[in-house]
Amino acid sequence: MRAKRSKKYRKLMHQYEMTFGFHEPYQVLVDSNFLRAVHQFKMDLIPALERTLQGKVKPLLSKCSLAAIMAAQPINPRTNNPFRPQHLPPPTVLPLRHCSHNEDDTPIDEVECLLSLLCPNTETMRNKEHYTLATAEPVALAHDELDSNDAKKRRRAEAAFNERNEKSSALRSGARSIPGVPIVYVKRSVMVLEPLSIPSERVRIGVEKGKFKTGVQAALDVVSNLKRKRDDEEEDPVSRTRGPKKARGPNPLSMKKPKSRAKQTPDQEGKKTKSRPKESEAGGDLDNADGETTSMPKTKRKRRHKNTKTEADSTEIPAESLTTGGIED
Ligand SMILES: [Zn+2]
Repeated sequence: MRAKRSKKYRKLMHQYEMTFGFHEPYQVLVDSNFLRAVHQFKMDLIPALERTLQGKVKPLLSKCSLAAIMAAQPINPRTNNPFRPQHLPPPTVLPLRHCSHNEDDTPIDEVECLLSLLCPNTETMRNKEHYTLATAEPVALAHDELDSNDAKKRRRAEAAFNERNEKSSALRSGARSIPGVPIVYVKRSVMVLEPLSIPSERVRIGVEKGKFKTGVQAALDVVSNLKRKRDDEEEDPVSRTRGPKKARGPNPLSMKKPKSRAKQTPDQEGKKTKSRPKESEAGGDLDNADGETTSMPKTKRKRRHKNTKTEADSTEIPAESLTTGGIED
């Protein structure tokens, strides 16, 4: 189970690397809920993140997140400053990400701050800095009087708790709407990496089809293309079932044959060289090739050496790619 999950997460991060240009160390914006949850469930911030993202991480705390953490703390009467909370790691472990949202650098709402860091420009909708978001469902705070006998206090605490829940889910749904934002989430005592959001997935499909337009437009194009294709197919289902078989079946074969013929001309002589019996699968072609070779035997012999070299090269490449494929899996 554990191995299966880490394999899944490795694959996910690989997709972020290929599609959105992520690279290690992954920059992770952690929010106040995440830090509280990590502390509550006695997780180790960096090792836990590295296990989840399957690579080196560089966690960061925005100035506005820090302000939100400190604002929730009781005041130390001696210093008149809030107590430093236990769930706030030292800056050596968790450096500050300086952010400026206004002229006098006053901190803004944490969720607004994080979304603006993840997506500085709502026109382009790009996570330019390749941030990962690490967040969590809110946990009850020490001063949350959810169990209070005082109905008034309890209602106020419940309202505040509900508001934190709503803001937490707004942050996640906002982050999901930006293509290319990995989201780490702590729910109860489990740290998970969310699957690609729909906008991320759309961009990924666009890139894999060789459309290198970036951002949302490319995704929308892909979707509308798919939709158009589907509509066309639904109009006449008969041609849909027959069409691809007729069109796709014979064409690739007829494309391959001339290639294999050219390469296999030395093959009929090359019965001496034992390394190539597999390629004579297209045996029918050899007959044709025979006719050609008999007409020009001398030139073919000269070419044979070159061909054997190139063939050896070409057979080596797939063999290597097969093995590397095995390792990656
Ligand atoms: Zn900020």
